[in-house]
Amino acid sequence: MNENDVRVAVTKAHQAQADWQALSYKKRATYILKAKDILLRDSDKIAALISKENGKPLMEAFAHDIMPVLDLMLYFSKNTEKLLARHKIHLGKWEFVGRRSYIDYYPYGVVGVIAPWNFPLSIPLGEVVMALMAGNTVVCKPSEYTPLVGNVMSDLFKEAGLPNDVFQVFQGDGAVGAHLVGAGCDKIVFTGSVNTGKKIMAACAKTLIPLTLELGGKDPMIVFEDADLDLASSAAVWGAFCNSGQICASVERVYVHKEVYDEFLSLIISKTKQLRQGEGVSESIDVGAMTAKMQLDKVNAQVQEAVQRGANILTGGCLNSKLSGLYFEPTILTEVDHSFTVVKDETFGPVMPVMPFDIEEQAVKLANDSEYALNAYIWGRDWVRNHRIAKKLIAGTVTINDSVFTHALPQTPWGGPKLSGMGRTHGEVGLKDLVRMRHVHENECVCKKKYFWWYPYSPEKITLFKNLSIAMYGKGLPRLKALFKYFKAMMKVRVS
Ligand code: NAD
Repeated sequence: MNENDVRVAVTKAHQAQADWQALSYKKRATYILKAKDILLRDSDKIAALISKENGKPLMEAFAHDIMPVLDLMLYFSKNTEKLLARHKIHLGKWEFVGRRSYIDYYPYGVVGVIAPWNFPLSIPLGEVVMALMAGNTVVCKPSEYTPLVGNVMSDLFKEAGLPNDVFQVFQGDGAVGAHLVGAGCDKIVFTGSVNTGKKIMAACAKTLIPLTLELGGKDPMIVFEDADLDLASSAAVWGAFCNSGQICASVERVYVHKEVYDEFLSLIISKTKQLRQGEGVSESIDVGAMTAKMQLDKVNAQVQEAVQRGANILTGGCLNSKLSGLYFEPTILTEVDHSFTVVKDETFGPVMPVMPFDIEEQAVKLANDSEYALNAYIWGRDWVRNHRIAKKLIAGTVTINDSVFTHALPQTPWGGPKLSGMGRTHGEVGLKDLVRMRHVHENECVCKKKYFWWYPYSPEKITLFKNLSIAMYGKGLPRLKALFKYFKAMMKVRVS
């Protein structure tokens, strides 16, 4: 689509918005629930398409894309009205003089959703459903690497009978995404790389379009000496290699207490060697193909650089020679540190660098030593320490004794600070990222008088405010004196 096509789509979305907003939450939910039922009905076909287009195993197409978004559709259909209900603000002493305040939430208007290819269904569809339930109309640009899954979204809502132009999908590369950002949307929700996020933020700055950025990650896992090593090693292997490591929440750095370092390494090596790599649509494989050659090349470059600098490859480290296609072998690296690109930058591929640590402060320091801060994982049985460490980690989400999981929870916020982005998706916080807030303040005018802070000003009014400030916020005798002076000034103001 060219720039004009995108503008036309956004204009149509604006025209459709008022009628959509006018529908009750219940009515909006009927469309979402209908789309959910169609997704469920066609899930075999859609899972196969996800697997073919993205390369991920069929199991992950069901478990990571289809099921979480079904859950999200159900959750926001049922709960949006409650989550966006009017919020009363308690005003303390002002309530005694008839003041009331509350916050109402109302849709932005048109939300533009720009999505990546790693979760080609669950990421864009999740954002779309939340924005629609909040009363926005939506224009979505899926990744150019997964356009067919992108079309699934429009097919679902078309069959569900969604009114025209309430949701539109259009296809294209980054240039088309840039057109969308400049086409007059009221809010942009972007999930993707840091570089693109920066470009979009600069474009949004021109007209101050509000923006949510869900960007990259370099998530650390800390394994303490008392962790259940069998579980922790399985969680690390799965967390690093599922979706071929192409997950913003992948386990990308592992820090293991030196007492259990060797044992942990032998567990992850043996578990990784058992992984079966192959075509995603085959039901008996564990790791599929990577999605795009450009991503495989980035991963390979990081691994080769690490090897040249003395890293030790314990397994993998290259393309799978038994397969033709974008199959990078699940790779475990040691003898690396924070000066290595593979430890510093997002890899977004099936690579797990593992490093030992000695004391917990060192583990925290290493985990926090990153430009990213999306997730952090802790493994250990000492809950006092787990909670202590959780408080010290800079991360959008800290998960204790698991990995990757929480994007699948529609109830909990997703997103992180630093280069991982700004704003949140999912949960109440994420939903409120898709609406504007309106503060309404009411004055019941119990005293039926013009307020003394209105015109005209006078020396008596200045004395009054000076003493009122001391009377309200001062201490001891000066406070009492000020109270007396305040009443005196008040009498004069009244008389005049
Ligand atoms: P990307 O930034 O290359 O592309 C993302 C989307 O932006 C695509 O649809 C692309 O066409 C579009 N785009 C590119 N240039 C644009 C521009 N100038 N203006 C507007 N749109 C533009 O990212 P990707 O390679 O598709 O995805 C991988 C990245 O996404 C990784 O860094 C990963 O960590 C991140 N990601 C983050 C999350 C999260 O929730 N934080 C989830 C998934 C992926």
